[in-house]
Amino acid sequence: MSKFIFVTGGVVSSLGKGISGSSIAKLLQLRGFKVNMIKCDPYINVDPGTLSPYQHGEVFVTADGAEADLDLGTYERFIDVPMTKRNTNTAGLVYQAVIERERRGEYNGVTVQVIPHVTNEIKQRFIPFENDFDITIIEIGGTVGDIESLPFLEAARQFRTEKGRQNVMTVHATLLPYIASADELKTKPTQHSVNKLREIGIEPDVLICRTEHPISQSMKNKLSLFCSVEPEAVIEARDVPSIYQLPEKFEEQGLTDLIIKRLDLKPKTKNDGSWFKFINKATSLKKQITVAIAGKYAELPDAYKSVAESLRLAGMSNQVAVKVKYVNTQKDDMKVALKDVAAVVVPGGFGKRGISGKIEAIKYAREHKLPFLGICLGMQCCVIETARNLAKLQADSIEFDPSTDNPVITMMEEQKQVKNLGGTMRLGNYEATIKKGTLAYKLYKTTTIFERHRHRYEYNTQYVPLLEKHGLIVSAWHKGVLPEIVERHDHPYFIAGQFHPEFASRPQKPHPLFDGLIKAAKKFKKVK
Ligand code: GLN
Repeated sequence: MSKFIFVTGGVVSSLGKGISGSSIAKLLQLRGFKVNMIKCDPYINVDPGTLSPYQHGEVFVTADGAEADLDLGTYERFIDVPMTKRNTNTAGLVYQAVIERERRGEYNGVTVQVIPHVTNEIKQRFIPFENDFDITIIEIGGTVGDIESLPFLEAARQFRTEKGRQNVMTVHATLLPYIASADELKTKPTQHSVNKLREIGIEPDVLICRTEHPISQSMKNKLSLFCSVEPEAVIEARDVPSIYQLPEKFEEQGLTDLIIKRLDLKPKTKNDGSWFKFINKATSLKKQITVAIAGKYAELPDAYKSVAESLRLAGMSNQVAVKVKYVNTQKDDMKVALKDVAAVVVPGGFGKRGISGKIEAIKYAREHKLPFLGICLGMQCCVIETARNLAKLQADSIEFDPSTDNPVITMMEEQKQVKNLGGTMRLGNYEATIKKGTLAYKLYKTTTIFERHRHRYEYNTQYVPLLEKHGLIVSAWHKGVLPEIVERHDHPYFIAGQFHPEFASRPQKPHPLFDGLIKAAKKFKKVK
């Protein structure tokens, strides 16, 4: 029998439910269990693919082509289980499925209602991993008390009755605000949010309390009394310098044993502590380098979450702490902004805003031999930069200038037919073949790779011979027709991909393109 852990959130959003859930998943994995994770987002968008990064941060792309919440990136990085379309749900997706079924006449004439039709659809989505995994952790997005998350919480309540109390538990993440004038942590908001949960029939088994200060035993007792959880199940989640340190903090407080006991599980292995050891070493490095991410959402780090994490993870495996500098390609002067960095990444993006700054950043990296990694739009800008500055063409992407004389970035026929914006890009894993003798081959050490894509436009192959004469070599192709990687051989590290390598980095397994970037960055600037 598979077990299920719901993670809910109270008091405020952005509590780190995803990180708490992922930490629990990691701890259970370290005891030998097969763990998978599911995210439920209560908004009406079918997926976050059409949402602005200002609203939602990064869109994470799964190997099978789902556009998903950035929490799925955290899940993958913590548990190294590939996320799929079945790991992500939104209210929009649920309602779409219910309405489509109704239109097909499959409800046999009954009135379609939130209970049971919507909740049944949601419950179906809790169990796709039931046969293949020992435990599924299901994070319900939003904050308890929101109107829109109610159907998900109601489904969770029903689910516990159906699956049995010993098979389902709830972990509630909450906040203990600190009032400086009273020098006190306050429990009242937590009490209220637990009451809200209980009103809808869910009793939390564990409280994960975000706090800036240690929680005293008497405070734990008080929370226990008012919220009906055992004092040992009140878990302190104080801010940690690195999110990867959180599992050990939970382990020290006995959370893994408590969950194992509560769900009547038998650990398959002992946690030998080696993962904690790696993390502790990798997060206490003295040497530091600064790497720039040059994009238009510089004031919004969540827009580049997986890129920044990939840089940090590559640093952890190369014994150097990576400080990320967010450079604004719309406002900053690249010559000034990139002067003191050891490498630069130009990440993916959409639309014309900030493009000239990205092209400036690439020119600066090319001319100053600054290690450079271009991602998706970053690769397209790299093609435009060579075309304009070396081949002296009036060149552009048709995304920015549909009537440009030289459309070095263009659109494939099938994309021209697309009418709807959502879910219609070239999405998910595509194969690429790497040429031997290239930097890409040196980094990947293989000729066949699969990488995740999310784009509509492509490098126009008509321009490949000319731009290769100017040093921009295509080192990987998809089926010999679509350029996948470009690189320069007159530069220590200048490489860009039409895909998103940032979604495939893990602790102890940095992505080859980021690993190479950090190795080159260490050489570029003598590490302090
Ligand atoms: N806007 C570009 C395209 O659609 C690049 C997309 C991206 O960087 N993810 O092709």
